[in-house]
Amino acid sequence: MRLNTQTALITGASAGIGIETARLFAEEGARLILLARREELLRRLADELKDSTGCETQILVCDVREVSAVNAAIAKLPESWRDIDLLINNAGLSRGLDKIHEGRLQDWEEMIDTNIKGLLYVSKAVLPGMVARGRGMVINVASIAGREVYPRGNVYCATKHAAKALSQAMMIDTNGTGVRVCNIDPGLVETEFSQVRFRGDSELARQVYEGYTPLKGRDVAEAILFCATRPAHVNIADMLIFPSDQASSTLVHKRKMNYEL
Ligand code: NAP
Repeated sequence: MRLNTQTALITGASAGIGIETARLFAEEGARLILLARREELLRRLADELKDSTGCETQILVCDVREVSAVNAAIAKLPESWRDIDLLINNAGLSRGLDKIHEGRLQDWEEMIDTNIKGLLYVSKAVLPGMVARGRGMVINVASIAGREVYPRGNVYCATKHAAKALSQAMMIDTNGTGVRVCNIDPGLVETEFSQVRFRGDSELARQVYEGYTPLKGRDVAEAILFCATRPAHVNIADMLIFPSDQASSTLVHKRKMNYEL
């Protein structure tokens, strides 16, 4: 099944897994609603996709933490773009890697507001339409952090456990409506993720991916595309994807072990 004629909304489309998902979906013939905060990156992506594949796009410059901004952005879509077939809830972030008793409230709030409330706000704006139309798919990008808690991962792990619980809840509550819900848990993926976690400390970010070959955004995008292109009677409910050298949140075979997760 190609994605021809399908409309996909991808959150966090300005970088990492989201941008690669946009590129793959465009190659498969989808039309795309690209959502993130950095407008310039979204505009550049939209131009690239138009040139490379002829993909039609809409850009939503929006902070998923702001429910009014999410609702206004979706309400501003042209009428012909409102019937969203695929929602990829991918926007998310981690901030800091501190012991819980040393963590910063501001970091906790940013992660909770983005990874849990943001996912809910976008879903609330899109899911009722899918249920009313009797078709659609939501793909939530959670994490291995939603399956296992790792040292200093505390609040980030809690938000991803919540995202995973919400995937399950969506699947249960939409059962029988024709809407499919899929949860994808990546392990270590080399994106802007660690730059964001360490607030631009490139050396710390580099060490996360040192000594082994991490996943690339494209690897996870391919998994998302696989889920999105199953026939209507198939739902990939839950998927875990690791780099070959990763076996759990904390077990990564590194050729140069000079970084402790
Ligand atoms: P990334 O390269 O940092 O991309 C994150 C994306 O989320 C960006 O497009 C960013 O766009 C967007 N975003 C962040 N906060 C936002 C907000 N408040 N409103 C709207 N958009 C927001 O990281 P990534 O690795 O691709 O992460 C994508 C998802 O995968 C996240 O949910 C992450 O938790 C999950 N994940 C990542 C890894 C990994 O190792 N990289 C592993 C497991 C799961 P703007 O900054 O332009 O808004």
